[in-house]
Amino acid sequence: MPGEKQSFSAPKGTSDLLPPESLRWVALVRLAMETFARAGFLPVDTPIFEATEVFERGVGETSEVVGKQMYTFEDRGGRSLTLRPEGTAPVMRAVLEHLMIRGALAAPPVKLAYAGPMFRHEQPQKGRMRQFFQVGIEAIGSESPLVDAEAIETGAAFLDALGAETRLLLNSIGHPDASCRGEFQRVLGEFLRAHESALAEIDRERTISNPMRTFDSKERATIEVMKDAPLITDHLCDECRSHFEQVRSLLGELGVPFELDPRLVRGLDYYTRTAFEFKAPSLGAQDTVLAGGRYDGLAESLGGPRLPGIGFASGVDRLMLIPNRLEGALSYDAYVIAAGEGLESEALELTAKLRRRGFSVLLDLQGRSMKSQLKDAVRSAARVAIILGPEEAASGDVTVRDLATATQERISRDELESRLSR
Ligand code: ATP
Ligand code: MG
Repeated sequence: MPGEKQSFSAPKGTSDLLPPESLRWVALVRLAMETFARAGFLPVDTPIFEATEVFERGVGETSEVVGKQMYTFEDRGGRSLTLRPEGTAPVMRAVLEHLMIRGALAAPPVKLAYAGPMFRHEQPQKGRMRQFFQVGIEAIGSESPLVDAEAIETGAAFLDALGAETRLLLNSIGHPDASCRGEFQRVLGEFLRAHESALAEIDRERTISNPMRTFDSKERATIEVMKDAPLITDHLCDECRSHFEQVRSLLGELGVPFELDPRLVRGLDYYTRTAFEFKAPSLGAQDTVLAGGRYDGLAESLGGPRLPGIGFASGVDRLMLIPNRLEGALSYDAYVIAAGEGLESEALELTAKLRRRGFSVLLDLQGRSMKSQLKDAVRSAARVAIILGPEEAASGDVTVRDLATATQERISRDELESRLSR
């Protein structure tokens, strides 16, 4: 409308990533992907949206994510699409589609890593967004507890490299058969029905649709009830129990400290056996920074063969909230100063050349006075200022001023690179 003042802000539950935070962010994602690649988990990138069914069948309709949090829409061709709420089902979809399962079956596991935005319609709060960013890994095709241990160690290595202080909680949630979790869910269901009136109102429905998830409740009343609930670890079948024992002993040998938490469950339906979370105590309510587990039933629920797997996802938004080793500020090798009229283009040329040689170099493009450029250079925390005045221009030299000691020397341009590398 003419004359009306327009103002927009980022949609609820989303945020803009701005400098200098954005530099720490990029460094964090790079650190994650490098740590994962060193362990053989190579990058994969899937679309930001998928056919809705990938999540309905992969994640499970009784999960909170599918039941309440998905951004689902119909496209112009009438297909039901969903902005991905998580990365595992899409990665498995891609593995099945591209017949990487041949590799996964012949020489397992297929090891992949991803980084990207996820979307869930949640109540936004600190560390809980509607668009958030995850880095994660998946190891597909093996049931071996060695693979569980390797995945958990890779998560621990990433958090240690970051310098994030965390504790690792570990559990096994068995497998769906009557010999294992099936029987446990029946026992748990009985317990929950007997205590229904003491549960928080919003948790009563869970007891019918997915009783295990009652352990995941953040409601005080429910948490109180669950203190006396039966525990999955008392109901594991022999194979799941032995698998869990091996994972624990391997982690012990690797020197990865963990605490057993028999009440730890995962929010998504496809998980089996090993479940784990790394928590950062400094974070408060939303304190899980990396979480994952085994998902031996996922491939089949997507229409594929039986293809066990394990992986984790880590919330970058939450990691950014805890103190870590990554520096926000970029350090610059040099600040080029054009000290005289008509020297700007020569300064730009010199700057561009140095940048192409791999140096990070700042340059003032506003034609300001030498004095204010020098002030700016000091503020920028560049190591040196490279001053290009009329004399230097005539002789093909530059003056290099060490900004820490305020000493300067005139050198030829041929010597400049080795001076900067010093
Ligand atoms: P929560 O219990 O906190 O809702 P979840 O079980 O839904 O977690 P996962 O699906 O396992 O979480 O996702 C793995 C990680 O991704 C979480 O541990 C967290 O660090 C991050 N994460 C999940 N949902 C969000 C969100 N809405 N905003 C920011 N980070 C998130
Ligand atoms: Mg959640």
